[in-house]
Amino acid sequence: MTIAFDNTYARDLPGTYLRIAPDVAPAPRLLLLNRPLADRLGLDMTDTEAAAWLSGAAVPPGADPIAQAYAGHQFGGFSPQLGDGRAHLLGEVLTPDGQRFDLQLKGSGKTPFSRGGDGKAALGPMLREVLISEFLAAVGIPTTRALAVVATGETIWRERALPGAVLARVAASHLRVGTFQFFWARGDQAQVKALADYAIARHYPTLVGTDQPYLGFLDAVIERQARLIAQWMGVGFIHGVMNTDNMAISGESIDFGPCAFMEGYAPGTVFSSIDRQGRYAYANQPAILGWNLARLAETLVPLLDPDPDRAVDLANARLEGIAGRYRTEWLAVMRRKLGLVGEDAGDAALTDDLLAAMGGADWTLTFLRLGDEASLRPLFDDFTAMRAWLPRWRARAGEGAAQRLAAANPAVIPRNHQVEEALTAATDGDMAPFQALLSAVQQPFVPQEAFLLPAPTGFGAYVTYCGT
Ligand code: AMP
Ligand code: MG
Repeated sequence: MTIAFDNTYARDLPGTYLRIAPDVAPAPRLLLLNRPLADRLGLDMTDTEAAAWLSGAAVPPGADPIAQAYAGHQFGGFSPQLGDGRAHLLGEVLTPDGQRFDLQLKGSGKTPFSRGGDGKAALGPMLREVLISEFLAAVGIPTTRALAVVATGETIWRERALPGAVLARVAASHLRVGTFQFFWARGDQAQVKALADYAIARHYPTLVGTDQPYLGFLDAVIERQARLIAQWMGVGFIHGVMNTDNMAISGESIDFGPCAFMEGYAPGTVFSSIDRQGRYAYANQPAILGWNLARLAETLVPLLDPDPDRAVDLANARLEGIAGRYRTEWLAVMRRKLGLVGEDAGDAALTDDLLAAMGGADWTLTFLRLGDEASLRPLFDDFTAMRAWLPRWRARAGEGAAQRLAAANPAVIPRNHQVEEALTAATDGDMAPFQALLSAVQQPFVPQEAFLLPAPTGFGAYVTYCGT
């Protein structure tokens, strides 16, 4: 087959990337091909084509592999040059229904942005990205998608020898807050404007030709990101590295490193081994949303108004609105999780009081079981506060709440102990546990017995590593 490539980024934004081919995988072996996604994209590849094209063993006709430049604040400190150090954007695919998606390889070799890295990826972290992103997609949260994982046949070195793999992922685009920062930090305002115009045309086309397209653009990114983080919070998702280079302009979840899902409710939950200050802890994510968007706003200020003072005022007014915007999105998410229909002035208090009553009860199961006190109670060490709260919820939720809870709250999430088990087995050559877990998280509203429960207490505190 031929892939319908149309590579606007490479064509329209010279100077924002470097052209470089992926490494040729020595012995590509297709471990996973996401057929439903491939079909949606109009990619009718054979397994042989997929193994070659999606590993870098062969460049598909029409592709124009590039590494994109970007910068980013990592844990608050600015790195002026990051960029695709182990990823190659093959190009943009036009779907049969006219949508445009980036097709990118990750783990496909060194680029001029690699700095000290080897440009490679181990199988485990690539499969983690598949599990997490497929789950988010299945619950309706915007995210990049995993199209395929190909074992390269190489051994790569982290703390030990590991099988190498390439992930093929699909994204609305790979424009990041950090992409804007790269050019802003160099004082290249013309390139920031070119990026903004490109992003507006690609992601926010209704803004084209309006009076204030760049202010509208900032508003639109704020809106999508506020909704996204609220949705993450709803499913207990902790990204782990909300650096500005890992925040997409499209509003999709992107770059799944040490991410994991909170099990027992604990606002300070951190899984990443390197996040010692808890900057990206569960409950800190909404604040980081505002911080990151302020970095985006900075890059756009010169585009907002010829008068610098007025431009800054315009940007600040937007930034001041983020917390309220987030709170609105969060309340909408929580209303759904609580099975509430319509809006009531008491909903915010009802939500806050539930959080105060939760103790360390399992985040996922609590919402699912609100309608069934007998199964809810064992989740709590102390049920006293819940006993007072439940009648208030019942009065507000009314008829049909049980069905609404089941429709809004996933029963299956990627549970940490099961993710670990699956990735360990896959690394040792057994893909079966991974396949079973993947299929369960792809149908998260189906309560499959084997995937419902949190880790047994012996599992201990979960730590994730950036060791990609
Ligand atoms: P990430 O942690 O995936 O957001 O990556 C942060 C930066 O490190 C990006 O510029 C990546 O391209 C780069 N990077 C991560 N892992 C590697 C690697 N193994 N080789 C080269 N660059 C890497
Ligand atoms: Mg990244």
